[in-house]
Amino acid sequence: MSGHHDLEVLNPATEEVVATVPGAGERDVDAAVRRAAAAQTGWAAAAPGERARLLRRFAAVVDRHNEELARLEVREAGHTVGNARWEAGNVRDLLDYAAGGVERLNGRQIPVPGGIDVTFLEPLGVVGVIVPWNFPMPVAAWGFAPALAAGNAVVVKPAETTPLTALRLAELALEAGLPEHLLQVLPGRGDVAGEALVRHPGVAKIVFTGSTRVGKRVMALCSDQVKRVTLELGGKSPNIVFADADLEAAAAAAPMAFLDNAGQDCCARTRVLVQRPVYDRFLELLEPAVRSVRVGDPADERTQMGPLISRAQLERVRSYADGAGAAIRGKAPEGPGFWFPPTVLTDVAPDAPAAREEIFGPVAVVLPFEDEEDAVRLANDTEYGLSGSLWTRDVGRALRVSRAVRAGNLSVNSHSSVRYWTPFGGFAGSGIGRELGPDALTAFTETKNVFISTEDSAP
Ligand code: NAD
Repeated sequence: MSGHHDLEVLNPATEEVVATVPGAGERDVDAAVRRAAAAQTGWAAAAPGERARLLRRFAAVVDRHNEELARLEVREAGHTVGNARWEAGNVRDLLDYAAGGVERLNGRQIPVPGGIDVTFLEPLGVVGVIVPWNFPMPVAAWGFAPALAAGNAVVVKPAETTPLTALRLAELALEAGLPEHLLQVLPGRGDVAGEALVRHPGVAKIVFTGSTRVGKRVMALCSDQVKRVTLELGGKSPNIVFADADLEAAAAAAPMAFLDNAGQDCCARTRVLVQRPVYDRFLELLEPAVRSVRVGDPADERTQMGPLISRAQLERVRSYADGAGAAIRGKAPEGPGFWFPPTVLTDVAPDAPAAREEIFGPVAVVLPFEDEEDAVRLANDTEYGLSGSLWTRDVGRALRVSRAVRAGNLSVNSHSSVRYWTPFGGFAGSGIGRELGPDALTAFTETKNVFISTEDSAP
């Protein structure tokens, strides 16, 4: 498919049309990649200090537009306004952090006989960043901020349902003085614009964040050109509560660990594993905590959880968790909008779809376990390996279990896993490569080794 198409952006809380955006076809992608390649040459040649200065200005402009970007994200994605402000702030922080890396992107000097050996970290060229709808701003910036800092040009393909904040960020880049065409945003269908970007021979690397199903296809397409690829995919992350944990704290924190962003979070702790002796007590504590989560208008400052992104997503979540049988069910608004209440399922077999598949909605399963070995076995009994949490007062156990769980991002007695200055990424079916953290820029470079002879060649 190469044709143009329109994308209708709906407000998930009201189902009203927010905007209609033209979708890019194959030709548009080709033209954008060519323009990006031309812009990249000058950018890579600019003094590092100059690139850093422009990225800091970009960060400052994003900061000035925080409220506008946040309100736009509330409308197009149904994110709570508090979350959306954090997300716009995250873009600013990523740009600042990446800007600080431009002058520090050092090669090495390695001792060799007969000369000197140095390495250069060369930019890749044009980088394609394919973004899902669940965190439109942060995930775009996880790719574009370090890629630009390392001297690349970037073409972003946002998700069909959420192109607006990415488009606005590209305008703000120009306002900050970044060269034209260095950061372009091309909304469009995944199977049209997304695939055209992945197939384009002028794109050196694809940073893909999305489902494991599409990620596998992107990786296969990249192999044809030996194209660099980073995959940030799905998750079904465990939240392991040991009997020796501070149960009140664990139960108080558990709801938002799977309800934040209405559960549409790749790191959502949706498999709550609880040690048998405290299983009943934990559920008693969990129930009021889940019920007290405020679900409603995402533009209201007090709201903790908004709607799902789309009708399709609502149907998907319903297929796992509708009907009777939920141990705990919170409340959600009636009427228009893609609402689903916070839901906790018990009495689910560990191999049932609800316990194994990524639901991507406000649904968690609670499963009992016997001992540490059993906890680790259950935690690892998944095709994914993105995140996980464990609650215990035993430091030795915290470290043993952290090392034994096969996942990229673990937290002890908390649920935090994403900071822009620490590495992030998945094991196994959750992806390949790492983003963020001290090595973020290096991932957008190719190492070149140069040997210079110091032998006296004079006769
Ligand atoms: P998706 O895979 O359906 O789409 C992701 C992006 O890929 C969209 O922009 C889409 O248009 C595009 N796309 C679709 N088909 C394509 C193709 N054939 N070629 C190229 N691009 C194509 O995912 P989604 O439903 O938008 O997002 C939800 C998924 O993203 C969940 O599985 C979630 O766990 C995952 N996710 C992972 C992370 C992480 O960091 N690991 C972060 C956020 C979301």
